[in-house]
Amino acid sequence: MELYDLTIHELKDKLASREISVNELLDSFYKRIGGVEEKVKAYVTLTEKEARESAKELKAEFKGKLAGIPLAIKDNLSTEGIKTTCSSRILENYVPPYDATVVSRLKEAGAITLGKTNMDEFAMGSSTENSGFFPTRNPWDLERAPGGSSGGSAAAVAAGEAAGALGSDTGGSIRQPAAFCGVVGLKPTYGLVSRYGLVAFASSLDQIGPITKDVEDAAILLNVIAGHDPMDSTSVKMEIPDYTRFLKEDVQGMKIGLPREYFSMDFAAEVKESVLAGVQRLEEAGAKVEEVNLPSADYALAAYYIIAPAEASSNLARYDGVRYGYRSKKAHDVKEMFTNTRNEGFGDEVKRRIMLGTYALSSGYYDAFYLKAQKVRTMIKEDFDRLFYEYDLLISPTTPTTAFKIGEMTDPLEMYQADIFTVPVNIAGIPAISIPCGFDSNNLPIGLQIMGPHFGEGKIIQAAYTLEQILEIKDRRPELEVSV
Ligand code: GLN
Repeated sequence: MELYDLTIHELKDKLASREISVNELLDSFYKRIGGVEEKVKAYVTLTEKEARESAKELKAEFKGKLAGIPLAIKDNLSTEGIKTTCSSRILENYVPPYDATVVSRLKEAGAITLGKTNMDEFAMGSSTENSGFFPTRNPWDLERAPGGSSGGSAAAVAAGEAAGALGSDTGGSIRQPAAFCGVVGLKPTYGLVSRYGLVAFASSLDQIGPITKDVEDAAILLNVIAGHDPMDSTSVKMEIPDYTRFLKEDVQGMKIGLPREYFSMDFAAEVKESVLAGVQRLEEAGAKVEEVNLPSADYALAAYYIIAPAEASSNLARYDGVRYGYRSKKAHDVKEMFTNTRNEGFGDEVKRRIMLGTYALSSGYYDAFYLKAQKVRTMIKEDFDRLFYEYDLLISPTTPTTAFKIGEMTDPLEMYQADIFTVPVNIAGIPAISIPCGFDSNNLPIGLQIMGPHFGEGKIIQAAYTLEQILEIKDRRPELEVSV
């Protein structure tokens, strides 16, 4: 295996024992990027110069939990002095004057940023086709989408273009691309990871989390990014456990629920079989598995597509061409400048969300849509609370299908369905992970989702780690032709 194929924990060992140097590691990753990026297109911006400088600074003081580990950062996380575009024309040349809290925590831990990854514009989408620049391709099949909106991050990790990455998840944007690309994606509990410096999409749903090659790496990254931050008023003040303590192969006596409503939906047979086979392996390992009811699940997607656009319509009001970002030159007065800036700067999906959200919030419709969606939200949260009173974890597929073809989904509503299993988790604010559990007949990865109670990341990691050890598929990598 090449260095770029290794996990964060393997690289940490090699770096710590001085078997390899940080520069050798960067050479390996940038060479790999040089060889495959033309096809995969995971990155919006590469930061080799800055990465080499960070490596130099590290030399003197080689310490920190992630010293020398090369990572990719989704392009909606603010990076001081480095473009942060959200893959939107409106922020094409925006350079933030500060780092997101997660970015400064990674830096403090000694991690090195390889570059900023492509995404659906403002994180709105499930395929990275809504990027204002170009679509990213799935390393397992270049004709297919990597999922989204953190498609660049997931593709970069799967293709060996980064040792690990950060993504953001509002309705599935870490877990769904992780499932499509055969990697691990963890969405933490709302409030566990600071959102300071994450460009807001839907503030009550957004969370930042790791996308990695295995569960151990997810625990390692979570250790670094989790914890209270006074800059985010929704960040929770609590003792953060060492998540690597949960990397134990043990599910003996764990009670796992399978929501009937999920499994009775119409979705790909191969996905269902593979997920149920995974569940069976956990049962054989000593978990107690039962079917459970999650009656409100059917309404989650509808509620999400009111709440998320409503928040987006207000969050995105700031892009008016006045303070930062793109400004239209075709304007005679202020109103025309606002209109043209937004019209030229935003893509179709972003405009659709702003219109949906503005409509749902407008007087006369607020009660019928927004307020009702908030009530459904409470119902969903209560449904989960009730289940977690009795069960340790819940399991479902991450996605109803494996990776679809680029250009295949033409109806936005069809694309929204891609999040049917992931959205309820954000609505309830609970944590969930997606891990690879098998491959379909096209050799495309299948993701299994494990959901837990608020701040139940430890248990999730333990069950995910156990299944990963049993399945023994985590070292499978996509075959990519390298261009020289
Ligand atoms: N695909 C969903 C959407 O388009 C979720 C996106 C996300 O989690 N950022 O809104």
